[in-house]
Amino acid sequence: MTERSSTALSDELESVRANYLDICERISRAAEKSGRKSDDVTFLAATKTVEPRIINYAVGLGLRFIGENKVQEMLSKYDDYDLDNCQLHFIGHLQTNKVRQIVGKVSMIQSVDSIKLMSEISKQSVKNDVTTDMLIEVNIGREENKSGVLVENLDEILEAAAQYPNICIKGLMTVPPICDNKPNILKYFDDMYKLFIDISGKTLDNVSMDYLSMGMSDDYEDAILCGANMVRIGSSLFGRRIYR
Ligand SMILES: *Cc1c(COP(=O)(O)O)cnc(C)c1O
Repeated sequence: MTERSSTALSDELESVRANYLDICERISRAAEKSGRKSDDVTFLAATKTVEPRIINYAVGLGLRFIGENKVQEMLSKYDDYDLDNCQLHFIGHLQTNKVRQIVGKVSMIQSVDSIKLMSEISKQSVKNDVTTDMLIEVNIGREENKSGVLVENLDEILEAAAQYPNICIKGLMTVPPICDNKPNILKYFDDMYKLFIDISGKTLDNVSMDYLSMGMSDDYEDAILCGANMVRIGSSLFGRRIYR
């Protein structure tokens, strides 16, 4: 990592502070506009490329959820997170052979998109004597090279959960296609909300629809208005990502 002058660091922290307060305010307004309380919407910070001292500064401001999307990066930062005061989620594409490296370390895996992956998370959770919460990632835009299950395969994976010990499906997550116009993105958010409500009405073992995780820096207020109760925000909080 590069060394910065103390002025540069304090400027960076000051901007994280201002951004944090602004985002909380916007989340709160969007929640109220959609008939909910600000506490009903969970603010998770996507912390890829961000140094632990900056992340922990945000935790000091009140941030309670952080999410990493690469196993290697998460493990290299793991000992430095302030996990007494925040929960760590895994939000990126996860290969089956890396599951054992993160089970027991993360409180939720948001990006489960196959029965094979679910089965491995269950196996490693039994081994570690923990229960791992997960969200099912939906490929709502049916994009070729994107992770996530297609809508027509959702029932199968939800029903399979009953067979696996030490896991609990807590909801749905999505990363919709990049859209250049607003009606398109709203359509994806609406479709996700409909799925979420539909599944909420079913009784399935090991499944409870507590979280609908969608919305990032550019669109989290819209996502909340469409029914998201967890948003994952990176660059609006920490600034443009610098890949070191
Ligand atoms: C990076 C990331 C985000 C946040 O993206 P921003 O546009 O920087 O807010 C959200 N979800 C996932 C899965 C990510 O990897």
